[in-house]
Amino acid sequence: MKRRHQTPRGRRNVDPKKRFYITTAIDYANGSPHLGHAVEKIGADVMARYHRRKGEQVHFVIGMDEHGLKVLQSAEAAGVSPQAWVDGVAHEFTEAWDVLSISHDDFIRTTEDRHHRGVQELIKRIEANGDLYQGTYSGYYCVGCEGYKTEDELAREEGKEARCPVHPSLEIQWMEEENWFFRLSAYTEPLLQLLKERPEFIQPEARLNEIRKVLEGGLEDISVSRSRLPWGVPWPNDPDHIVYVWLDALTNYLTAVGFPHESFKETWPADVHVIGKDITRFHCIYWPAFLMSAGVELPKTVWAHGFVTYGGRKLSKSAGVAFELPEAIERHGPDALRYYLLREVPWNGDGAITRELFDERYTSDLANDLGNLVNRALTMVEKYRGGGIPAAESRSLDEACHYAVQRYEEVMDAGLLHQGIATAMELVSLANGFIERQAPWTLAKDPAGGPELDATLASLARALLVAATLLHPFMPERMAELTRRLGLSGVPTLEEALELKLAGLTVTRGEPLFPRPDLRSP
Ligand SMILES: [Zn+2]
Repeated sequence: MKRRHQTPRGRRNVDPKKRFYITTAIDYANGSPHLGHAVEKIGADVMARYHRRKGEQVHFVIGMDEHGLKVLQSAEAAGVSPQAWVDGVAHEFTEAWDVLSISHDDFIRTTEDRHHRGVQELIKRIEANGDLYQGTYSGYYCVGCEGYKTEDELAREEGKEARCPVHPSLEIQWMEEENWFFRLSAYTEPLLQLLKERPEFIQPEARLNEIRKVLEGGLEDISVSRSRLPWGVPWPNDPDHIVYVWLDALTNYLTAVGFPHESFKETWPADVHVIGKDITRFHCIYWPAFLMSAGVELPKTVWAHGFVTYGGRKLSKSAGVAFELPEAIERHGPDALRYYLLREVPWNGDGAITRELFDERYTSDLANDLGNLVNRALTMVEKYRGGGIPAAESRSLDEACHYAVQRYEEVMDAGLLHQGIATAMELVSLANGFIERQAPWTLAKDPAGGPELDATLASLARALLVAATLLHPFMPERMAELTRRLGLSGVPTLEEALELKLAGLTVTRGEPLFPRPDLRSP
């Protein structure tokens, strides 16, 4: 599938305020993409597309985190070199993102040269600031998190070994090594100050409070190099060590836009890092501390979305088996999956998904509400006006359209994507009710009903265009098709959707946008 970019590259004279740099967490290359990965990419893609619809110059980066012990172990288990292993995984991920219409502008991999150079330069700057020293590290290490755990971060059950609460199936290891340390403790106060001055740095607010609590408890220095691990970015001037995976991975946000070349400042700072709420500590404590130390500007916000559960379990490599990504895509098509995941799971909290609920949502929202509106409106324009949208407007639905756009912008700017969908679908409902009230089939029989019928059909065409524009970030392929059926060559901006002249455009009814499903038994 070809990728479409709404924002022309190299556009000149763009207001610097209108740039929008958005990233997601880079995915760990130790398995196949699952629904948990997909939710994050789709949500970030909707944000990127929404900002493009507002006319901003968006730069959207995703990628792969390809170093670390687990990758090495997976490669060994598969009997291939680590590079061959990560090449294969990266290919699998990019294919999935293409099918799901993820509109990223760049895909960064931490095994790339451009990344290695940037990581080493960032470390040199941190060292120049006096924040690195050598020491011995020992502690509990979770291979799942690729991180050391303090006692209070571990779950202990009577008579059992300590476990990582995020990875209860993995054994916790006691590790001891000579390492480079980062003086994180020196950043407790600057970070508290940051959250005081810029509380919007962490969103939603619940996550801000968690991080503030951690900071108020004080920070300890962290080890940022690893010995004995042959798969990673070499530590500058100390080839026995490689860079700790989180310092390596986080730096992708900089290296993807050219760091250390000065041109990175044309795109940096990021407007938002979209991440899962389980990695806020790394993004809201480690990352800003590294950047402060290196004298690099901080990102504007970190958005931590919640967990999606299936059958009561967080979607992950193992839980993915219960509802695999390819099956979920195939069930009702990629756009329907995008719609369902963001309709059902609040972007600022947790949510649960099931096959049954997916089928229900598809049928009620897409095949019935939206599908029927499209079908009825376009059929009537063809039947009563030979396919030409009449020149008239009706006030009642027009106000609903204006209100929907205004409300949509409010909730989308606040990151409440699920409410963005709800707002668009309310307009769809109103338009369906409007058809019932206006009864165009009766107006068509009334010799004096012509002007009212024109107004009704014109209003419906307008409502369809506005709904298609609002839903386009969520269902880019189907909604682009809908605007084509309204006789337009491209999807308009929000402003244009309200004002574009539609009279005289020729509509095409076509096949149902959302065919009724041949529902499979769950
Ligand atoms: Zn863990």
